[in-house]
Amino acid sequence: MRPIPPPAAAIAALALSACAYNPDLGRQQIAIVDDSSLTKAGEQAWNETLKTSKVSPDKAANARVRAVGQRVVEAAGLGGRPWDYAVFEDASPNAFVLPGGHVGVTTGLLKIVDNDDQLAAVIGHEAGHVVAHHAAERQSQNLTSSLVLGVLGVAAGGDAGRAISSYGGDAAKYGFLLPFSRKQELEADRLGVDFMQRAGYRPREAVILWEHMQAQGGSSSPQFASTHPSDASRIVALQNYIAQRGW
Ligand SMILES: [Zn+2]
Repeated sequence: MRPIPPPAAAIAALALSACAYNPDLGRQQIAIVDDSSLTKAGEQAWNETLKTSKVSPDKAANARVRAVGQRVVEAAGLGGRPWDYAVFEDASPNAFVLPGGHVGVTTGLLKIVDNDDQLAAVIGHEAGHVVAHHAAERQSQNLTSSLVLGVLGVAAGGDAGRAISSYGGDAAKYGFLLPFSRKQELEADRLGVDFMQRAGYRPREAVILWEHMQAQGGSSSPQFASTHPSDASRIVALQNYIAQRGW
């Protein structure tokens, strides 16, 4: 047996100590990038979006997103802080919930939802990613693999902690914009219907929403549809979960 070189051992220890049990998911998660850096990154991303995108002057649309969004974030257990809501003028259907308390929905998304239940399904799904710490998890995984793959070779006589903290800020910031893994999408689907049901919306409308999303797919699909590939097996998994819960 070859002895493990010190950097690999250090990273293994770090990865272990950074693993946390998430009761909402019923599994362990690696969490090197923590919630406070995510909140900061969420804040930055929101301010950036306000600068680069046009908020819709449609008062009724903004009030609708605020009303539905507030019910969903409270049901998700995220109501302990003030939340910002905005409708952005953008024909491409998109929605996001940022750690730190921000919900954005595009005018394009409002066009494809048939009712408030479907709007709640989208916001619930995005809130699911937040509750599940998916952005932090993905960035932690990327970070661990890049470190294990040799960055630590440099850090043999250096400072792994400093390398992580300098990488963490940017990574977390851009983490929101990258596609999640399929496993994370399925988790967010399940959490999303839990939240919408708890908030008093009809979970079955989530299935119709994802069918609408599927129809948006294809080579020229808008960003949300391409980062949320809504294939038949995913929709079946959601239907099964809803049936299993008796909804
Ligand atoms: Zn998603």
